[in-house]
Amino acid sequence: MERGELKSGGVGGPRRMRIAIVGAGPSGSALAILLAREGADVTLFDDGRRPALLVGESLVPAVVPILQRLDLEKETASFSRVKPGVSFIWSHADRVSVTFNRFAPSVFPYAYNVPRPHFDDALLAKAIASGVDYVTTRVQLEPNTSGETGAELRLAPEAIAAAPGLSGQPDLIVDATGRARLAARALGIAARLGPRKDVAHFAHFEGFSWDDAPGQVRIARGEAGWSWCIPLQERLSIGIVLGQDDAAKLGRTPEERLERAIAADPGLTFIVGSGRRVTDVATYANYQLISERGHGSGWVMVGDAFGFVDPMLSPGVFLALRSAEQLADALAPWLRRREIPSPTELDSVLTSYAATQNEMLSAWLELVAYLYDGRLAALIQAGRSWMPANPGLLKRAMQQHIARHVGLLASGAATTSRYSRGLLRFLGRYGLRGVKPTDLAIR
Ligand SMILES: Cc1cc2nc3c(=O)[nH]c(=O)nc-3n(C[C@H](O)[C@H](O)[C@H](O)COP(=O)(O)OP(=O)(O)OC[C@H]3O[C@@H](n4cnc5c(N)ncnc54)[C@H](O)[C@@H]3O)c2cc1C
Repeated sequence: MERGELKSGGVGGPRRMRIAIVGAGPSGSALAILLAREGADVTLFDDGRRPALLVGESLVPAVVPILQRLDLEKETASFSRVKPGVSFIWSHADRVSVTFNRFAPSVFPYAYNVPRPHFDDALLAKAIASGVDYVTTRVQLEPNTSGETGAELRLAPEAIAAAPGLSGQPDLIVDATGRARLAARALGIAARLGPRKDVAHFAHFEGFSWDDAPGQVRIARGEAGWSWCIPLQERLSIGIVLGQDDAAKLGRTPEERLERAIAADPGLTFIVGSGRRVTDVATYANYQLISERGHGSGWVMVGDAFGFVDPMLSPGVFLALRSAEQLADALAPWLRRREIPSPTELDSVLTSYAATQNEMLSAWLELVAYLYDGRLAALIQAGRSWMPANPGLLKRAMQQHIARHVGLLASGAATTSRYSRGLLRFLGRYGLRGVKPTDLAIR
């Protein structure tokens, strides 16, 4: 397809780029909104199989400017809880509470805890209101062996038939199918796996007790693995994350495992108190992976389909929305001119988008490792012993500088920053002052 080539029947002007997005989770719907606003002809497919309980409830501050851009912050706030920060509990006696406003203005001063299905519904409704053609069907992707176009993938005929707005194969197929990894499966693309092979079980509770700031997320290291508590408007999401063997030791069913993990942890036992579980227990396993290839001729991956790091530090929805933003911004110059990029131009756009997304995923994977192997907790302990009760100006400035850069990394504001990452690497190597990270590692 040459640049600006006319759609059949089109007379007198260039046609709009036709983009098919498969998957209406946060990445797919956000991308659909942004592309439609720029003038693309967008078809958004989803299989409509969203479960009632979905992970991705705790957002990082860097999501908020994206919600503002999508014109969705006000609506999100109406059904969500403001998240002022995160409390990390390494042991009964060792607790660190971080509030985002401490790092403002470099970091957005707050985030949200969202009920995910509601959040996804809001994004999808905005996509439809932006002119996106929404089709509910389970899509199949196939390697394109027709040789008619240079595209590597194509939508199966059933998907085209289900979408009245698509008269043929689109100019670009976007895989936003999350962990289903539709394009990777169709093309046999492998994934680089992260070091952890955890399983997570979680559910919602009501009638709980809360001894932290309202909305503050609580992350606690346990004897095996760790747990999260994410306050929503009426409910509390409680999750446990464990190695597969440790999970099996806790019980046979997800319900047994969650109950026993809560009973074995005095902090969680206090929180649940006389409260009750009001949902089934959902299970997720084997999630750390980055696709070996994120694009090809005429197709590209966004969100979890490209890669997912870890629930620790909650980067998933941010990475999903940010990948949508990056891709939409990269395509915008052609969309605004109502041109179709040539195959070479499209390949160049997708190559640089994929390099950025890969860098982002690798940076988060590196950061999360500091929490699991105990280096971040060791650094905090070492920092406390280094600071006297009345520190001088220089020590105080140094401490603020370090805290700000860790904040920039963990909030999503600048996770790929060379300087911030270099500083953390340097401190992780030379700044531990005898504190052993292994004593603070998460199993
Ligand atoms: C244990 C755990 C805890 C997590 N906690 C957090 C957290 O606290 N905060 C956070 O930000 N992130 C968290 N995440 C990650 C977060 O859930 C994901 O990163 C996020 O959902 C990715 O969004 P997405 O749009 O890429 O994919 P998804 O949300 O998975 O959306 C994919 C969509 O594609 C549809 N689909 C799939 N196959 C097809 C098909 N063949 N045809 C049509 N449609 C299809 C699906 O039904 C779905 O609607 C967590 C993940 C795990 C595993």
